Amino acid sequence: MTATLGTVPAELSGKVVTPDDARYRSLRSTYTTVGSPAAVVRPESAGDVAAALRLARETGLRVAVRSGGHGLSGSGTNDGGLVIDLGAMHRVEVVDRASRLVRVEAGARWAQVARALAPHGLAISSGDHGNVGVGGIATGGGVGWLVRRYGLTIDHVRAAEVVLPDGTFVRADAHNEPELLWVMRGAGAGAGIAVAFEIEAMELSGIGYVQLAAAVDPAGDTLRRWAETMREAPRELSSAVMLASRGTRTTAFITAVVASDNPAVIRDTVQPLLDIGEVTAQEAHVAPYTALVPTQHLHANTGQMPSATTNGLLTEMTPDAAGALVTASAGPRPVLVQLRSLGGATHDPNPSATAFAHRHQSTLVIGSAFPSDNRGALAAAWAPLAPHTDGAYVNFESAPDETTFARAYPAATGARVTDLWKRYDPDGLLRPRP
Ligand SMILES: Cc1cc2nc3c(=O)[nH]c(=O)nc-3n(C[C@H](O)[C@H](O)[C@H](O)COP(=O)(O)OP(=O)(O)OC[C@H]3O[C@@H](n4cnc5c(N)ncnc54)[C@H](O)[C@@H]3O)c2cc1C
Repeated sequence: MTATLGTVPAELSGKVVTPDDARYRSLRSTYTTVGSPAAVVRPESAGDVAAALRLARETGLRVAVRSGGHGLSGSGTNDGGLVIDLGAMHRVEVVDRASRLVRVEAGARWAQVARALAPHGLAISSGDHGNVGVGGIATGGGVGWLVRRYGLTIDHVRAAEVVLPDGTFVRADAHNEPELLWVMRGAGAGAGIAVAFEIEAMELSGIGYVQLAAAVDPAGDTLRRWAETMREAPRELSSAVMLASRGTRTTAFITAVVASDNPAVIRDTVQPLLDIGEVTAQEAHVAPYTALVPTQHLHANTGQMPSATTNGLLTEMTPDAAGALVTASAGPRPVLVQLRSLGGATHDPNPSATAFAHRHQSTLVIGSAFPSDNRGALAAAWAPLAPHTDGAYVNFESAPDETTFARAYPAATGARVTDLWKRYDPDGLLRPRP
C-alpha cells in the first residue's frame, strides 16, 4: 500500500494510517459502511488537509472526506482510495460570549460541542445524536432537537474555514468569498473541505423533554392532528415522531423538546400534543441540553448500521399523505418512518439565502430500511409517499444521484450549486457521486 501512496509528505508523518497500522481497524469504516481505503489521513491543521489533497492528486487516489462518519451514503469512506478524516480536529472555543460566537472544528462530534458550550450557557441545535460530526451537519443542514426555535444549524454559520481542492485556504464570510459561504451552507460537500466554522450559538439554560406514545389510526388522523398542532405551536416546541407498527396497529412515539427550563412553560407548551389522540404514555423531565446529545453517544464507527434511507419534505399533512405514512410503516414490507417538525425559525431565512432552499415545508419525513430488508423494500414503501413530498434534505439520503440532487437543490438553487461546485472544484475531486 505504501508503494501506491509513494512518498508521504513530511508534514503528514505519523498521520497516514495504512492497513498494516493498528489504528486502521477503527478508522476504515463509517457508521453505515465498511470501507477498505488504501489509507486514512488524520490531519491536525488546514495545512495537513492541503497536504492530503496534494497526496491524493499525486497518487490519483479517489478522495473521501469524513468528519464524524455518520453520513448515510457512506461517502466518508471508500475502497482503495484516500480518506481525509478530520476527527483529530475537534476544538471548540467561545470566540465572543457577548455575541455568542463560537468556533468549532469540523471533526468534533456534537456531543463534544454541547459539553464544551454548556458551562457558558450556550447551545447549538444540530441533530438528534451526539456522535454525528460537525462537518456533515454544518455543510448540509442540521435538523436538531430545537429546530423550530433555532432554525437549521447552517442558518447560524457566520464563517467557514475551507481548504479548496487546489489546496488554497479560504475563510469565507459575508464579506470575503460570500459565494463560498453560501454554498458551504447546505451544499458544502462538493465545494471544499471545511476545517472549522464560526457559528452563532443560542442562550440556553435547560430544556423540557417529554416523551409521549399515541395510537395511530389507519387513516393517519392522529398524524394530521400532530402536524396541525405543530403548525400552531410556539417555536419553543420542536418534536420528532417515530412510527412503530405491529400488524395493523401503529403507535407514534413522540419526543417533544421545549426550549425552556420553566416547568409551567413546558407543561403549557406540550399540552396540545396530549389532545392529538389516545395518548397512552408520557414522561417529562427538565434537563440540560447535553442530555439530548450526551457524550455516552460517542463511539467508533465500524459499519455497524448498514441501512437504506431516503426522505422528503411535506408542505402539508394531507389525508392522503398521512394515510401513506401509516401504510409505509404498517404495510406488507414495512420501513421505519420518522417525522421531524419544521416551521418556526426554519421559515425565517429567504429561500435563496443558503443552499438549503426549503423554507415553507412543515415536516421532514425519513424512511429507512435495515439489512434484513433491502433498498427494494424502501422503494416500494416510499413510492406512494413520494408524490406528496415537496423537496428533500441532502443529509438523509443513502443513495444520492441526479434525482435526489434535484429534490434537495431545486431549480435556481441547483443551478447555483452546480456552478459553484465547478468553480471551486473544477476537476470534481470532491463531487458527491453515487
Ligand atoms: C444516527 C444518525 C442520526 C442522525 N440524526 C440527524 C439529525 O437529527 N438531524 C440531521 O440534520 N441529520 C441527522 N443525521 C444525518 C446527518 O446530518 C448526516 O449523516 C451528516 O452527513 C453526518 O455528518 P458527519 O460529519 O458525521 O458525516 P461524515 O460521514 O463524516 O460525512 C458525510 C459527508 O459529508 C461531507 N462532509 C463531511 N464533513 C465535511 C467537511 N468538513 N467539509 C466538507 N464536506 C464534508 C462529505 O461529503 C462527507 O463524505 C443523522 C445520521 C445518523 C447516522
